[in-house]
Amino acid sequence: MTISLITGITGQDGSYLAEALLERGHIVHGVVRRTSSLDRSRLAHLYANLDIYDKQLFLHYADLNDTTAIRRILAKVVPAQLFHLAGQSHVGVSFEIPEVTCDLNGMATLRILEMLREMPHPPRFLHASSSEIFGDASERPQTETTPLNPTTPYGCSKAFATQLVRTYRRHHNLFACNSISYNHESPKRGENFVTRKICRAAASIKLGLQKRLCLGNLDARRDWSDARDIVRGYMAVIDHHTADDFILSSGQMHSIRELATIAFCSMGLKWEDYVDVDEKFFRPSDPAELCGNCEKARHVLGWKSTRSFSELIEEMTCAEYDWLRMGQR
Ligand code: GDP
Repeated sequence: MTISLITGITGQDGSYLAEALLERGHIVHGVVRRTSSLDRSRLAHLYANLDIYDKQLFLHYADLNDTTAIRRILAKVVPAQLFHLAGQSHVGVSFEIPEVTCDLNGMATLRILEMLREMPHPPRFLHASSSEIFGDASERPQTETTPLNPTTPYGCSKAFATQLVRTYRRHHNLFACNSISYNHESPKRGENFVTRKICRAAASIKLGLQKRLCLGNLDARRDWSDARDIVRGYMAVIDHHTADDFILSSGQMHSIRELATIAFCSMGLKWEDYVDVDEKFFRPSDPAELCGNCEKARHVLGWKSTRSFSELIEEMTCAEYDWLRMGQR
C-alpha cells in the first residue's frame, strides 16, 4: 500500500487530493498547522468516517517552519510520495505579508528538500508551483521552458521554490517535480479568491441576503481550471516514471467580466445591476496575460482538463445558493 504525505491537506487541493488518494487505496498522512485557526470543514466528511479517520487517514500537527517537527513526521511516516501543497496561497495578500509569504512558500520548500536529501530513501516529491512564476511573461502561452519573471511577492516565492526543486533534482538526484498550475477553482475555494467571491455574491443577492458586490479589475484575465482536474494532474506528475515539471492549465483565458456574467446569469440576474468597482481590490501589479500551454502534460501524462469554465462557475454558484439557503455557510 502506498503511503502518501500531504502538506496543506486542509486546503482546497489538499482535501480533494486526500479523497482521491484514499479512493486509490493509499494510506494518507496530512500535515496540519498547530496554531492554525483554519476552517477544517473541507475534511469534515473524512474525519466523520470511522472506517477512514485514524485508519487510512492520519493527521500530524506541525508548522512549515518547524524543521524538527517536519523531520520527525517524515521519519515516522516514511512516505513514498510527498505532495507539498502548503503555503500562503493568496497573491493579493502576499503584497501585505511578503516576508511570511516568502518564508512559507520559499524557505519552507528549501527546508523540506534539505530533509529529503538526508533520507536514505527519500519519497517522490511534488511541489505545487504556480503560473505566477512567469509574471510579466516573455511569451504566451507559457511552457515549462518560459523564463521566470515574477511580478508579485507570491510569484517570487514560488519562483524561488520552483528553481530549488529543479536544482535538487539535477544536483542531488531527488525525484522532485513541479506542477506549474494555473488558477484552479471549485466550490471549496477560499472566499477571498475572486471566483468564490463572485459566485457567492450572485447566490446571496438572489436570496436577498446581499445587495451589492465590490470588485477590483474587471478586465483582469485568468486561465482557470477545475481544481479536481488539477489534483488528478498532481497524481499523474508524481506517478510518472521520470521526475519532471509540467504545466497544468486549461489553455483558455476568461475575464472577471465574463466570470460575473456566467455566475449572475445562472441565478437569472444581470451582473451590471449589482457590481461596483473599488480601487481597494486592485493589485499593485497584476500579471496580464498568463495562459498555460499544457501540451507536455497532455502528451506525456495523458492529462487534460475535463470541465469547461462555464460549467465550473455554474456549479460553484449553485453550490453557494444551496449552502446559503440551508444556512450552512
Ligand atoms: P490569483 O490569480 O491567484 O490572484 O486569484 P484571485 O482569484 O485572487 O484573483 C484573480 C484575478 O481577479 C486577479 O487578477 C485580481 O486582480 C482580479 N480581481 C478583480 N476583483 C477582485 C476581487 O474583488 N478580489 C480578488 N481576489 N481578485 C479580484
